[in-house]
Amino acid sequence: MEIMEKTAFIFGITGQDGALLAKFLLDKSYRVVGATRNLEKRHLNLEILQIQDRICLVSYTSLQDIPELLSTYQPQEIYHLSAQSSVGLSFQQPLAAFESIVPPAITILEAVRTIGLPAKCFHAGSSECFGDSGDSAVTEETPFSPQSPYAVAKVSAHFQVASYRDLFGIFACTGFLYNHESFLRPREFVTQKIVTTACDIARGKADLLTMGNLSIQRDWGWAPEYVEAMWLMLQQDQPEDYIIATGKTMSLETFVSEVFERLGLDWKTYTRQDARFFRSSDVPTHRANPGKAKERLGWQARLDGRDVARKMVEAQLAMDGIH
Ligand code: NDP
Repeated sequence: MEIMEKTAFIFGITGQDGALLAKFLLDKSYRVVGATRNLEKRHLNLEILQIQDRICLVSYTSLQDIPELLSTYQPQEIYHLSAQSSVGLSFQQPLAAFESIVPPAITILEAVRTIGLPAKCFHAGSSECFGDSGDSAVTEETPFSPQSPYAVAKVSAHFQVASYRDLFGIFACTGFLYNHESFLRPREFVTQKIVTTACDIARGKADLLTMGNLSIQRDWGWAPEYVEAMWLMLQQDQPEDYIIATGKTMSLETFVSEVFERLGLDWKTYTRQDARFFRSSDVPTHRANPGKAKERLGWQARLDGRDVARKMVEAQLAMDGIH
């Protein structure tokens, strides 16, 4: 009997999660198709993972291209990961943030509905949808409290997902993803800034790490584990939303100290806080309860924020040829 290979379609395949998810699915013998807005540019994440020749990379120049792409490739699974994913940038470019998140979500869902594609759809939601969680851990029942243009857009896209599920019976779900990192994180994101600067300091190429508010608390996980959670959500019989997090919160200061400790340095000697880097927009605390994912998906983060800091340093040193 011939075994049909499954096709997955990834929007945002060139990003951190898209590339890691593509690798994960290729290892499961999927045919992986990914869409990018720019076919011509170098896609470093795909190169680093050495998967650029194993995927089918297609371009879309406008949202109008999406129905035809989905109709052509007939995927069984669709992962909507594309977004302008920086919370900070969304304050400077709120419309661009919204346009990168909400219209694509509606377009994908509407294409699935009108084509009658029997595909399961994953949407990348965010911890930012819940705002500051204080002392109580967020669950799937916690009311939304978005505090940035990015978070407002993610909440709006989630409501589109929920309405297509409820009104049209589409298998669509949102994973509310807490911060997850890897060696593919760009330097514009704070964890990679810390890791690359600390490694430069260790090699005598930099003197100082300048930071904003070190007291913010986040739940940091390891991105390769998070793409498995996305996939697991689409292997269920029923479409449901899940909190995807480690369940362990720690401060940015702890992340910094872990990074420097791995390099044999005292973080206090090399780190300064500068008022110019403080962002009033930063949500103070993210705290999450990923109990539903553990119970229903059998998914649990194996690595926490300290492990993430250590692994990012190891990856940077390996990239620099230092062990
Ligand atoms: P990345 O920023 O690494 O990748 C996102 C991809 O989206 C890019 O590679 C780009 O692909 C595309 N993109 C970027 N800007 C735009 C835009 N203005 N309009 C349309 N497409 C755009 O994100 P991650 O891989 O880190 O995250 C994946 C998803 O998960 C995102 O939706 C993010 O918001 C969400 N998320 C991530 C978290 C994290 O900690 N990483 C936490 C919570 C949510 P191309 O240029 O090829 O088109």
